[in-house]
Parts: sequence; C-alpha cells; structure tokens
Amino acid sequence: MGSGDAKMSGGERRPRELPVFAAEELLVRECARHGTVIVVGETGSGKSTQIPQFLMERRTFGGRVAVTQPRRVAAVSLAKRVAWERRTKVGGLVGYNVRFDDCTGKKTRLRYLTDGMLLREAMLDSTLKRYSVVLLDEAHERSLSTDLLFGVVKRAQQERRATNMPLRVVVMSATLDVQLFMRYFSSSDKTGDAFDEPVAVHIRGRQFPVELRYATESQQDYLDAAIVTVLQVHLSERENKGDVLVFLTGQEEIESCAELLEEKAQLLPPNALKLQVCPLFAALPAHKQLAVFAPAPPGSRKVVLATNIAETSITISGVRFVVDTGMVKAKSYAASTGLELLRVGPISQEQAWQRAGRAGREGPGKCFRLYREQDFLKLRQRSVPEIKRVELSQVVLQLLTMGVRQVDKFPFIEAPPTDALRQAVFQLVALGAVSVPSRHASAAKKSDGGDAPQGPELTELGRRMAALPLEPMHAKFLIESERFGCTEEALTIAAMLSVESPLFTPRNARREANSAHRRYLSFEADHLTLLNVFGAFLEAKADAKWCQANFLKFSTLHKARKVRQQLVGMLSTVLETSALGSAKADSTPILQCLVSSFSLRIAQRLPPDGKPGVRYKTFAESLETRIHPSSGLARRDPPPEWVVYNELVMTSKKYLKGVAAIDQKWLVQFAPALFQAQAQAQARGGKTGGEALAAGPKRKPKENDAAQAARVDVR
Ligand code: ADP
Repeated sequence: MGSGDAKMSGGERRPRELPVFAAEELLVRECARHGTVIVVGETGSGKSTQIPQFLMERRTFGGRVAVTQPRRVAAVSLAKRVAWERRTKVGGLVGYNVRFDDCTGKKTRLRYLTDGMLLREAMLDSTLKRYSVVLLDEAHERSLSTDLLFGVVKRAQQERRATNMPLRVVVMSATLDVQLFMRYFSSSDKTGDAFDEPVAVHIRGRQFPVELRYATESQQDYLDAAIVTVLQVHLSERENKGDVLVFLTGQEEIESCAELLEEKAQLLPPNALKLQVCPLFAALPAHKQLAVFAPAPPGSRKVVLATNIAETSITISGVRFVVDTGMVKAKSYAASTGLELLRVGPISQEQAWQRAGRAGREGPGKCFRLYREQDFLKLRQRSVPEIKRVELSQVVLQLLTMGVRQVDKFPFIEAPPTDALRQAVFQLVALGAVSVPSRHASAAKKSDGGDAPQGPELTELGRRMAALPLEPMHAKFLIESERFGCTEEALTIAAMLSVESPLFTPRNARREANSAHRRYLSFEADHLTLLNVFGAFLEAKADAKWCQANFLKFSTLHKARKVRQQLVGMLSTVLETSALGSAKADSTPILQCLVSSFSLRIAQRLPPDGKPGVRYKTFAESLETRIHPSSGLARRDPPPEWVVYNELVMTSKKYLKGVAAIDQKWLVQFAPALFQAQAQAQARGGKTGGEALAAGPKRKPKENDAAQAARVDVR
C-alpha cells in the first residue's frame, strides 16, 4: 500500500482519478431517491472503497453504513485500505467485522463485514435497524450468505418503509444480470413512489485491450502447463516488465506450484529478470497477503498465484499477463445422495472474462487460456449460484432463527432445490435442533382457526446452536460437551478444525517432519492429535521458533488460539454453567460427544472383498470411502470397525478426514434418533441391537420417520 500518494488530494489519500469519482453526485442522488441502487462497474473502478465513503459522508443518509463481502480477506483489506486513505485507524470511524475477528468500535460508522456476519446480525435484528445503508458487494458471486441477504434486506426494506429511517440498499458488482436484480427489488404493489423502484447505475471502467491466446490442444496437467506458460512469458517478454497473475484452484495447489516455480527460478539465466513468487489464497496470513500488493523489487517480476479471489474481489496492481487454468474449486451438493463436495471443475465464461480483464487494468495486456477456444465455448455462461449447490442445514437454521417458519416461502432471489431444503430439515431434526409438529397437531391448530405459522420449529438446542457462528454439527459438539464434561477439549478441537492443518512438511525435509509429527499422533482420533499439538504449543509458550523446529505452522496455531478465545466468549452465553469441564486424560467423553453431535457422519468398515485397501461405508449416504492417508487412523492395525468423521472430501478418491474410532455401543446410546429405530427393527428380526447395527445400515436415514414428517411440512 502507499504508492501513488502524489496524485492524492489534501490530508487524505483518496485516489481521485478512479472512475467512480465521476459518478459521485449521480450515485448520491440516486441513493436519495431510490430505495435500491444497482451499481455495475469494472473491477478496480473504486466501487468497494469509495461508494461507501460517499454515502457515509452525506448527512441525508445518517446512521451507519454496512458493506458486505463474500470473503473475509476482502473485508479486512478494504477496511484497512479505507482507513489508510482517511488517515485513521481501523476500528475507529472505519472498521471490519469478520468471524472471530471484530475490529469495530463505538465510533465506527462504516463497517466492512463478511456477508455471513451481517446475516448473523440479521438473526438478532431482522430489520437491521442500526444501518441506514447496506451495500451488498460482489453480488455476481451469488455466495450463499449474500443470496440470503437479498431476501433479508428486501423484507427489512418493506418493514422500515414507513419509518423515519428507511433502509437503502446498494447492490454492487463487476458484472451482473441487472434485469434479474431490477425485477427482484421492484415493489410488487405499484406505489408510484421512486423509492420503491430500483435503479441501475453503470460506472465506466478503464479497460485496455487484452490479447487472448488459447491452447492449441487440451492439457493433461493444467498445473504443469501453468508453470511452463509462466516461464515462457517471463523469458519472452523481457521488454514488458508487467507482473503475471495465475489463476489456480486452492491452497495446496498454489503452495506446490510456488515451490516448483521457485526451484525453476534458480535456474534462470543470470541476465534475466528475477522472479518473485507470491501466493494469494483466503487462508494466507495477513502479512503475507500484503506482499501481493507491494510492487515487485527493481529487477524482478512478480508472479501472483491466486485462487478465484483475484477475479474481482482483490485488485493487484502491476498485472499485465494473466494465465487462466480455466479451473475453480467450488462446492457441489446433490440432495439425492446427501453428499456435499468441494471439487475442482471448469469455470464459467463470465469468470473467464473477469480473469482476462485483470490483464488490462493498467495498459494493454495478454491472457493465456490453458484450454482450447472450442472448450471455452462449451463452458456455461454464468456460474450456478451457491444456494443451488450446497447443503442447506445452516441456512434453514438461520431462517428459522429469523422467524421464517415456512422456509420455502422466503423471498429467495432464486430458490434452492426443494429436495435440498427438505433434506436440510431432516438433518436438523436428526440433530435435535428442529422439531416438526405432527400432522395431527397442525390439523388441530388449523381447525381452531389458530394462525400460527406451520412448518418446522427450533428446539431449545437448535436455538443455542444457531447462536454460535459454526456449522450445525460443530455447534452441537460444543454445546453437548457440557453434558459430557469435556468443554475445554471441545473448544480446542472446534478451534483447530476451523483452521487449516497445523502440520508443515517441506519437500526437502519430509522424513524429519514426519518424525516430529509422530510425537503428537493419535491412532484413536485425529481430534486427539489436534489436542496434542495445541497442548504442546501452549506448553512451549506459543513460541514461533519452537513451531519451526517441530514442523508446525505458527500462524495457524496462533490463529486457532485466537479462535478458541473467541469461542470461549461465545459459548459462555449459550452454556448453562460458567465453569468449563475438562475430560483431562480420558478420551472417552470426547469421543462420545463426537458421536452425539456428528451422528450424521458415521461410517462402518466394509468386509474385505479382494479390492485393495480398507474401505468404509458412510451411514447417511451409503457411500464407499477410505480414511485419508494423512489420518493417524489410516495407520492403525487392525483398522477400526466404526468411525465418526469430520468431513468427506473428494480428490482423486473419496476420503474421510478428521476421523475418530468409536465404540459401536455408543451409537444407540448417544445417537438414538438415527440408530435406535433401526437397531430395534432388526432386533425384532432375532438379532441384538448391536448385531443389527453391525449388519450395516439397511436404509438411508433420510427415509426415516422424521424425514417423512419434515417432507410434509416444508412444502
Ligand atoms: P472495485 O470495488 O471497483 O473493484 P476498489 O474500490 O476495490 O475497486 O479498488 C479501487 C482501487 O483502490 C484499486 O484499483 C486499487 O488501486 C486500490 N486498492 C483497493 N484496495 C487496496 C488495497 N488493499 N491495497 C492497495 N490498494 C488498494
């Protein structure tokens, strides 16, 4: 940060040459007249940094301004940037609020938040009355929480319509289906009042021509192709010292690509420019992210290896060459299998254009597409919104907390699949977070003339789960830990599961790293390995040098420690007692607590049938998987019969990650909603409950009675 100060005016450092300044008066006028303004402007035109400031500075709007971002790094870096432009500290007039990190104060009037955090605020106050303006940025990304926020602000706008502080909404994007948003925000009852009619404002960006190059044949290995392309560009474009931006799919891929590129950079001819490799992904520690924004040192060229984070949400100056692998990592979910996977797949045409555009921000550029033109033409035009491809139990929990009983009636901008909603209700019923009034009771209410809304209802447990900013099963794990007397351990486990793996294995010191890691390894549960690592970290006084010597990532452990502290605070408002129980050296309560809260993530070992390796069948989806080779349990002999797992991931194969061995008896004891009915049914057939369970799941839990009930009422 900090380059180009000379162009900035007065005491502040706002870059007045940004295209958005030409539209300032128009934007302010339209916001005063209309309840909803849709702003479309090229990435880098100044939307996210400047428009919120325009609105905050005008008395007309009063109150506070919120700006949402789908990604936490964007929220944090924008707040820091705006504070820097205004020569103030972040947390003063300008602040940010992202999960586990609240940097706002009493004076904060401009708040950058992740969309998920604003949604949390809406769960406590559905009209968002502390804000006079809400800006929903990166709307084209159609992230899950932003999609829900469209509905939330629309409802809030209607409710605040007649008050002295109407809610103004600004939807911002680099590229947008404007018609969809205009229709969505138009008031259904034609009042004739301009406030009820949305308006669109287009901001002209500065875009230089970008020369497109396609691959002539399809690539076997896009990673390899990306490295070769970067080196070719670097060596052939000696005159043009512009930086290179490479779009990859995720952290691991970026880290291995960075290592390879750095190795190759050593072999460059001595007279060539140096290569400076900068990774950029969401989980990268803040100080390393800053390196991406800093200009390359003289005599060198920067190569930024980024996820789709650099498509629109983060602008990196100096880029003249883009290498587009055409791939992205995204979630996909099919209610029919109940399986949500993070998988690598092709981008949309719209994303490809955004990526190419990054090369033409500061001058003519070049974009190398590592796929053929005919393959580009086969890509879908726009990406499918997240709400249509993720598991929805957290969404349903949030909607119910906001008082939306008939979740399918919520004003979604595009509704999720009905099956996925039903499946989510089922999951919450199975977890005990939601109850579905019996058909009998609903009929009685109707004949009474009672107007109570029908549909699923939060239980006390569900209400407490919703108060924690965690996935439902993780939230239940923390709450249940009170009953099992292992809250201290559960807090550490939940915190450690919310960060990436703390183990660090450099390519040139694999053996040393593995032997260092072995000290913490548990063959009983990966959760216990995490506890061991965290315990050792605290014992070593959270020392960075100690981490390095033991092949552990200091920044990850440091983050986990901060997350844990925040969770302690949040949990204190949810638990019944203030004293936190500890299981001390006994792992049983922790494992039992896992069974009770992750009851939808249980798998049983399959008998050997000649196929290589030890395979497991997941109980909920009946899928064949294996334990991930990084797990301590993958090395256990004999392998455990029953396991509970934290996630199912799909790389080249399906793997269980975060695995713990459990006792089969605990299934009926601690997850009766799922396992008791089955055990009883099979016991009637002459087997004991245990034998029946050992015989394996006979039917998918989605077909059980709770699901049947849910199915009726969600419709
Ligand atoms: P938009 O929202 O239209 O993409 P932004 O308001 O995010 O545009 O950015 C406008 C300009 O401000 C960028 O082109 C960049 O030069 C600068 N900028 C924004 N954020 C940062 C940051 N964190 N560090 C340095 N410069 C930044």
